[in-house]
Amino acid sequence: MNDSVFPLPPPKERIYCNRTLNMRTIRAIGFDMDYTLIHYHPEPWERRAYEHAKRRLASAGWPVGHLEFDPEFATLGLIMDLELGNVVKANRFGYVKRAYHGTQEVDFTEMREIYAREPIDLADSRYRFMNTLFALSEAHLYAQVVDMLDAGELEKANDELRGQPLGYSEAYRLVRGAIDEAHMMGELKAEIIAEPDQFVALDPDIPLALMDLKHAGKKVMLITNSGWPYTRAMMEWSFDRFMPKSKGWRDLFDIVIVAARKPAFFSGENPVFDVVDEDRGLLQPVLGNLEDGRVYHGGSAAQVERHLGVRGEDVLYVGDHIFSDVNVSKRMHRWRTALVVRELEQDLEALEAFKPRQAELTAMMDRKERMEHRLSQMRLDLQRLEFGYGPQPEERAEALERAARDLRKDLRSLDAEIAPLAEEYSRLSNERWGLLMRAGNDKSHLARQIEKNADIYMSRVGNFLGNTPFVYLRSPRGSLPHDHGPAGGS
Ligand code: IMP
Ligand code: MG
Repeated sequence: MNDSVFPLPPPKERIYCNRTLNMRTIRAIGFDMDYTLIHYHPEPWERRAYEHAKRRLASAGWPVGHLEFDPEFATLGLIMDLELGNVVKANRFGYVKRAYHGTQEVDFTEMREIYAREPIDLADSRYRFMNTLFALSEAHLYAQVVDMLDAGELEKANDELRGQPLGYSEAYRLVRGAIDEAHMMGELKAEIIAEPDQFVALDPDIPLALMDLKHAGKKVMLITNSGWPYTRAMMEWSFDRFMPKSKGWRDLFDIVIVAARKPAFFSGENPVFDVVDEDRGLLQPVLGNLEDGRVYHGGSAAQVERHLGVRGEDVLYVGDHIFSDVNVSKRMHRWRTALVVRELEQDLEALEAFKPRQAELTAMMDRKERMEHRLSQMRLDLQRLEFGYGPQPEERAEALERAARDLRKDLRSLDAEIAPLAEEYSRLSNERWGLLMRAGNDKSHLARQIEKNADIYMSRVGNFLGNTPFVYLRSPRGSLPHDHGPAGGS
């Protein structure tokens, strides 16, 4: 049989693999909820969070009432530099490739001057990585507050309130606190629960994919930081409509853990409570073992492993938070990890549309490399002629100089052809920040984080559907600079 007739899922529906993973060896699979099992429309969700945080700052006396949320300002994987009040995008080595001070783009030369000396190190408390889409509101509000600080618009309010000047770091702490409170206090969540259709993107593939996994013999778990009433409301609304008759979302999960306090869930032994009265959310400490079919509040990865009788490598955790969901789970427990990155779909679409232009760009870059190589050879010939050493060129100096001049001219016109295409490439998918996984010609810092921490990644959990619970995901051979032939080859 001709096996080329067996199609693979289309690119947007694939699961991409950094580290080989045979799904058949996975005995338990845990899912995060927010932005994993449930995808929110980031614009209305973040706008609502932003409005709540802004109101908190306003009630503390900050003149922020006029500010408007721009959902396009930031994206996943950017880094806030709290010392300088900047939002930046870095490549895999931590070198900054694009920067905004407040809401204004920093020009290239200035950016180079600021960041040329040291690459960004996320272990430094000066930097905050944007791990999830929940950071969109925070980043924009912070940038606007930086603008206001620069314009002296916060001085008066601040003097009255605190009696000391406010710096970029302190301003961040206050913005962060306001966003944090917006998430923690009930109002925002109550608004989402009241109008879920405004905020949640329904996806029938997800419940079906989970049913496939469960019937393939895997233990299926929900492990979320959200509280019980919110989790229940969101899951009921998004899942129950797609479940077979007389079944509900609870039937999909062997165990449900809410208020998990990730990343602490993965790094310690938190107390665990049984949600004994699910309607009233009453909690009771768990003294013995966990039991299947129940809802727990808190707990730890170690407890889950004991309950299921599995080792870390038997468990796959699927989440959207680069630090809490995939970095810590892997580092502390060796769980296998999957990251959900919805925006990957935009990147894939933009790259597909750019394909013909990319072919042109690649061809021009190849020509440029060859021309530059020829020019370097000519310079060396001239140098050897001038100093009279080594093999001497056949051409005379004047002829070589003329040829070099012509080649330089050709290179300049080639550069002028390349520039608009390269610029277009750098703004693909997102006008401000470009492709999520790229920075300049290199991988972005986000791409590096994903590579380091996520064994596999995909744009949506529903992609498990087309890939089946039996898929053997193999990492690509990995490309090294010398895979494409030695530099200067024909
Ligand atoms: P998970 O992704 O299902 O683990 O849940 C994420 C939960 O964390 C949601 O309930 C969010 O509202 C909440 N969350 C996100 N960002 C913050 C924050 O900055 N402070 C407090 N809670 C947050
Ligand atoms: Mg999440």
